[in-house]
Amino acid sequence: MKIFFDSIGCRLNQSEVESLANIFRALGHQIVGDPAEADLAIVNTCAVTVQAAADSRKKLRRTAREGASRVVATGCWATLYPEKALGLEGVTDVVDNDEKENLVSKILGLSPEVISKLDLVREPLPGDRGRTRAFIKVQEGCDNHCTYCLTRIARGRSRSRPLTEISRDIKAAVDGGAKEIVLTGVQLGGWGGDLLGVKSIADLLEGVLTLNGYARLRLSSIEPWDFDPKLLSFWSDERLCRHLHIPLQAGKDAILKAMGRPIGTGEYRQLIDAIRNSVPDIAFTTDVIAGFPGETDQDFAQTAEFIQSIGFAGGHVFTYSPRPGTAAFKMKDHIPMQTAKARNAALRTIFADAGREYRGQFIGTNMKVLWESSRPNQDGGWDLTGLTGNYIRVYTEAGDDLWNRITPVVLDRDHPARSALIGSLTSLSE
Ligand code: SF4
Repeated sequence: MKIFFDSIGCRLNQSEVESLANIFRALGHQIVGDPAEADLAIVNTCAVTVQAAADSRKKLRRTAREGASRVVATGCWATLYPEKALGLEGVTDVVDNDEKENLVSKILGLSPEVISKLDLVREPLPGDRGRTRAFIKVQEGCDNHCTYCLTRIARGRSRSRPLTEISRDIKAAVDGGAKEIVLTGVQLGGWGGDLLGVKSIADLLEGVLTLNGYARLRLSSIEPWDFDPKLLSFWSDERLCRHLHIPLQAGKDAILKAMGRPIGTGEYRQLIDAIRNSVPDIAFTTDVIAGFPGETDQDFAQTAEFIQSIGFAGGHVFTYSPRPGTAAFKMKDHIPMQTAKARNAALRTIFADAGREYRGQFIGTNMKVLWESSRPNQDGGWDLTGLTGNYIRVYTEAGDDLWNRITPVVLDRDHPARSALIGSLTSLSE
């Protein structure tokens, strides 16, 4: 069969479609980049915001319209609204998040045992969905109760994948040529809480760092209250990227309380300071919601001030998105969209300035970059872009195509138009 994959939303969704593709490929099926060629199409949907849900429906309709004979909707939006998904023209099946792990055996009528014995090799998906970094799912669901969040409703309680399965996926990625492994989940820091002899994310890292063949290991995102101080010792291994994405969501304690987030700004700052003392130069990125119900101008000003005081290397800003089924949806004092969007824009400017300041520290230094995308330029060379270990995006030109290679680069100057630096390859690079 020819199979087309698409996913919307988080890295977990991306890692899930890659894993499914690896299994289908190992069973002799072909993964195609165009739904028009596909006998079967699988779209991993998202429900985190109103826009993500709309994008999911759009992708399902387009995939069906472009000719895929069988269209499977899976992921958070399809799990929460199966009838609506099946009501979309051309959608033939809905597989909810709980069944997703066995989607291949369900579709092909094979026993999970047959699938568990396959020798998997990860290959990037065709087309622009192809990535050099391998996102490895280690955990599913979440035990927290953030009042704005639908994800935990769509994905259920936190469940950890055993280290044996994770190691198998990492081996498949390494065998497929991946240089960087990104551990991902819904509540990554919740890994181990449900396993025999309760373990923590530190035990996972200890296990993964005993594996060889990859050059870099990155944590996708970890909630501040899940950060185990035992993790600090692992940065002695230079493969572990000096970058942490720790969601903040708001810089005002009253708003954090209304969001149902079990941490205050004081503890958040203490955590950042403790990690920074132990791992200098580490990059912190984060998520923030603008316009949460009840957020006054003063609250927002305090959030902006708090963000400026932390020295982030970057951040994602989301405008609060009212989601039916969440506690926040029923709250009073919803912020007018215009105000929320203005606050979003203001926070993006703050993060852009903070990012420029963080990157500026590394101008003139020599750092290693994993080149993620390359395209020929009119000078007969290649335009490259990639990421340093501490998550700085770098642009350069090269005589050779260095896609999916890690090379040293001198970081010359800030990029005039992007949140990035421009670098030049050293003699060691090519
Ligand atoms: S930690 Fe909060 S925002 Fe993140 S998935 Fe869990 S409930 Fe949602």
